[in-house]
Amino acid sequence: MSNIIYPTTNLKVTETLTIERGDGAYVYDSEGNQYLEGLAGLWCTSLGYNNRELIDTTAEQMGKLSYSHMFGGKTHQVGIDLSEKLTAMVPVENAKVFFGNSGSDANDTHVKMLRYYFNAIGKPEKFKIIARERSYHGVTVASASLTGLPPNHTNFDLPFNALGVLRTDAPHYFHGALPGETEEQFVDRIVNNLEQLILKEGADTIAAFIAEPITGASGVIVPPKGYYQKVQAILNKYDILFWADEVITGFGRTGNDFGCTTMGIESPALMTLAKQLSSAYMPISASVIRGDIYEAMIEPSAKVGVFGHGYTYSGHPVAAAVALKTLEIYERDNIFGHAATLGEYMQKRLHEFEDHPLVGEVRGEGMIGAVEMVSDKRSGAGFEGGAVGTFAMQSCQKHGMITRAVAGNSLAFCPPLIVTEAQVDEMIEKLGKALDETL
Ligand code: PLP
Repeated sequence: MSNIIYPTTNLKVTETLTIERGDGAYVYDSEGNQYLEGLAGLWCTSLGYNNRELIDTTAEQMGKLSYSHMFGGKTHQVGIDLSEKLTAMVPVENAKVFFGNSGSDANDTHVKMLRYYFNAIGKPEKFKIIARERSYHGVTVASASLTGLPPNHTNFDLPFNALGVLRTDAPHYFHGALPGETEEQFVDRIVNNLEQLILKEGADTIAAFIAEPITGASGVIVPPKGYYQKVQAILNKYDILFWADEVITGFGRTGNDFGCTTMGIESPALMTLAKQLSSAYMPISASVIRGDIYEAMIEPSAKVGVFGHGYTYSGHPVAAAVALKTLEIYERDNIFGHAATLGEYMQKRLHEFEDHPLVGEVRGEGMIGAVEMVSDKRSGAGFEGGAVGTFAMQSCQKHGMITRAVAGNSLAFCPPLIVTEAQVDEMIEKLGKALDETL
């Protein structure tokens, strides 16, 4: 037993698996056992392991300039190149980007930018943020407050009120629909709830609405058709900004460049990116904002003398070089096109488990999916606690595949975008064995 306090782990649990190396879509443990990476690490190793180009890029950049900060406008070309490539890719108007290290800190940056912006335009009371139940936005004090999962809140005494976090429905038809309700009626009801929340709180007090286009860590929830269009109509009506947390859905994961494209979300004002931005070869995140929000912050920062927010590693040159190379590879090798084609195949194969006696719902889009296990297939009633999910996850591991139990008893799938059709078949075969064993 080491002295590590393991993240997002029951602290009673001792070490579970020692991973030693990775290659392509596989990782290997200290005893040499091979595992197919069914979750791309934590939804991030899009180009797989041991990618020679990314390794060489890292080494070259380390040799050239291993560190330089960006405070006070000190800059470097690789950071500028990355910002240009990235801002040209995102569906955010006249995008500007602030670099950080993780999805959580990028979301904190956005919380502060929103305050800075509304203070700048003389609306300091417009600071609240609407976040959804069962969302995941990270674990720092601000981002955990936005996260809608109780285990990330319990015993941490998070400052929801001070941060102005408001909670609205998760767009999960399977669990959220009333008896007999159609998908359309479900959407209309939860969008109406959203509008009532806005009216109750006062639109003048609400800055933004944050959403993962498709949630990941909370069980891969794909909202019903029309949901975002109706949400955006309400937000536009009350002048509330749309903030897309694309930490998982960014860069090809859902079969398009961004989850916003897949879900028909138009012109988000803010976008959070991390994980696949560098294929997880180096930690880096990007808080992207619309140009006019940036413009409004210029004068106030000149008055204070500084925009007083920045991380030691904001724009780290090695992380920037790796991210830039990652984006080049996505483009050159048509990785998003591959993800679209293979994503359709993966969804088709995952949906074969709909008939399995243990499976209540199969959901997903592109190369992200989940299989939810239930105790009563007809009613969709779940199992108490997460023991069934954990058992199935361990069974997958026994059969040579890493996945993750999310939201209790769903198994999540999010393989590296470079997997082949044969590797998707391998994933399905191993999942089948694990489900049969769990039954
Ligand atoms: N936002 C979303 C949608 C995420 O899925 C995650 C992590 O899984 C985060 C934010 C937090 O990112 P990080 O773990 O890099 O802090």
